Amino acid sequence: MAPAPILIKCECGVETRGRTGDVITCQGCGLHYDTSEQGKMLEIVAAKTQRQFRYLSRAGIGFVGLLALAGMYLFKTPGLVGAAVVGAVFWYALLMPFMKKRLLTKATTLYTPTVAPTRK
Ligand SMILES: [Zn+2]
Repeated sequence: MAPAPILIKCECGVETRGRTGDVITCQGCGLHYDTSEQGKMLEIVAAKTQRQFRYLSRAGIGFVGLLALAGMYLFKTPGLVGAAVVGAVFWYALLMPFMKKRLLTKATTLYTPTVAPTRK
C-alpha cells in the first residue's frame, strides 16, 4: 500500500507534513519522528475497511439474486428483471454510498496516530 500523508504536530508547536513510513524531522526544532509503526497501523485499518466494503458488495449480489428469484416466482420474467433492477439500484446506488461513508468515518475514528519524538 502507498504511504499515507501524515501531519506531525511537534511539541514545539510547528506542524510538519510527511508520509507514513518516513522519519520526519520537525522544521521548527529538528526533533525526529519515526512514523513507520503508524504507517503499519494505518494499513491495517485501511485493509479492514476495504474488507468490510468487499463483504458488503458481495452481500449485494446475494440480495439482488434473492430479490430477482422472488420477482420471478411472483411475476415470471418481467418480475425477475424488475426485481433485479430495483434491488441493484437500492443496494448499489442508495445503500452502498451511505455505507461507504459510514465505514470511512468509522475508519478515521478507529486509529489516531501519535508519534513520540526521538532526539538524535
Ligand atoms: Zn519541533
